[in-house]
Amino acid sequence: MNLKRMLFKLYGYPILFLAIGIVLLLFFGLFVPSIFSNSEKFANVVSQSKNIAPNIILMFMGLSLVTSIYSSFRLWKWEKGEGDFCHSCGGITRYIINGKYSPHYRCLACGKNRAEN
Ligand SMILES: [Zn+2]
Repeated sequence: MNLKRMLFKLYGYPILFLAIGIVLLLFFGLFVPSIFSNSEKFANVVSQSKNIAPNIILMFMGLSLVTSIYSSFRLWKWEKGEGDFCHSCGGITRYIINGKYSPHYRCLACGKNRAEN
């Protein structure tokens, strides 16, 4: 079983949300104000951009926190031996509702698919 791959897939969304939040914070907090800082017309845009930046990073940090708690909960259940496992390696599976042929489970560790029972 590929534990690193499983952990990366498990915590990919929290990391992604945090990265998006940081990028948007830099964009609205630094990039937009620096572009429009010399223009009188866009003074309102600059102030609104500076006001919205902390709210955006807080929103994405919240999303990251919620998804990481959910991932940790799944990892905890897996450690206890509860929940759904991969038939091949025993890793955590993700339910994919709109699969190519049918809904199925995909292992986060080895990537093998298993049809829904
Ligand atoms: Zn597997």
